[in-house]
Amino acid sequence: MYLTRKFHIEGTDQLERLSRSSADLWNQICKWYWRTVDRQNHWLSKTAMRRWHCKGHDVLPSQTAQEVAEQFYEAVSSWHDNDRRGNPPKRCDKEYNVLRWTYQGVTLRDDGVLRLSTKRGEDSILIDWPVDEEPRTVEIGKSSGGFVVRAQYDTEPVDRTTGDKIAGIDLGEKHLAAVFTGQDAFTINGGELRALRHYQNSLKAKLDAKIDRKERGSSRWTKLVQTKNKQLDHIDNKITDLLHKLSRKVVEMLLERRVSAIGIGDVRGIRDRIDYGSQMNQRLHQWAYGEFDRMVEYKAKLAGITVNRVDEAYTSQECPQCGHRKKPSGRDYTCSECGFHGHRDVVGAANIRRKYVGSEDRSRLPGVMASPSGVRFHPHLSCSSRSERKTNRQFA
Ligand SMILES: [Zn+2]
Repeated sequence: MYLTRKFHIEGTDQLERLSRSSADLWNQICKWYWRTVDRQNHWLSKTAMRRWHCKGHDVLPSQTAQEVAEQFYEAVSSWHDNDRRGNPPKRCDKEYNVLRWTYQGVTLRDDGVLRLSTKRGEDSILIDWPVDEEPRTVEIGKSSGGFVVRAQYDTEPVDRTTGDKIAGIDLGEKHLAAVFTGQDAFTINGGELRALRHYQNSLKAKLDAKIDRKERGSSRWTKLVQTKNKQLDHIDNKITDLLHKLSRKVVEMLLERRVSAIGIGDVRGIRDRIDYGSQMNQRLHQWAYGEFDRMVEYKAKLAGITVNRVDEAYTSQECPQCGHRKKPSGRDYTCSECGFHGHRDVVGAANIRRKYVGSEDRSRLPGVMASPSGVRFHPHLSCSSRSERKTNRQFA
């Protein structure tokens, strides 16, 4: 099982140079590979390619150079696997190529800085690392306005659950997640995510208006576009960071409550319920909520919790006590048939849980459904220092 973490960093001359050199090497490998096929009808082996073109590379550290060949052969073999449909990796005019380090070239220092090995005599690449765990592979690629880092962790699910409870989780907008375990309920507040999203929207609108006033393609225009991408990326990073923290919180709370299995609504369900507004809203919503959903799932799985998808149909409309259906209005659900009263999102979670358990027992619902405990994200307590650190991350 893999876990990937992605974030943006600022570019440096060193990274520019290495990425260009990686592209040159890719182009060279590409050229020789196809030339040998055309002229000698021979498919050059990876070992031979590495020996001739990667070993002792004059700019790239040996291992990173070998990984360029690795990337090329991965691309070739996926083309073969696909019955040679589509385009083989034949374009030999790349300007930048991804840099990849495997575990041999990656060290997480005690001070939280990740060190990537470079050629002897050259400064190492240092990145202020957001988590306490050493990644297995790190890839750095050129992106708009900077570089993007993709770190991959090898993770095996560990059985940390000792519980036997089943919880239902309803993902939503006002409350990112509402959870019902059968005995108690809690919600994760989505206010901070909405605030970041609104900020990102207004920033984008503001910068787009500025860009529109410049002549397309002019140097001022280019500069503004770069600024815009950089600032939007910066907020993307903040949002990703927030989603990681909140999804981790959900899983921690599940473990504290001795939950061993969860039923979770299909994410398409929440998308339908959200008031999208503009196209931008929609894109962002889909991205952020899809990410949150995915994070909750894999973090739960890593903690040994069984995850099941549940059809969300009518889960927000049904009275969990008597089964009567009505469209709820406002944040609370009050049943006109039996008088049941509960928090709307928790009602959704309870119905998802019931669908997962498959039980028709609707009796004895606890009073906590009316006032679940809420987890609110406080940016000044836990996040600020971390996200500051993250956004200030640079190469030393
Ligand atoms: Zn009812």
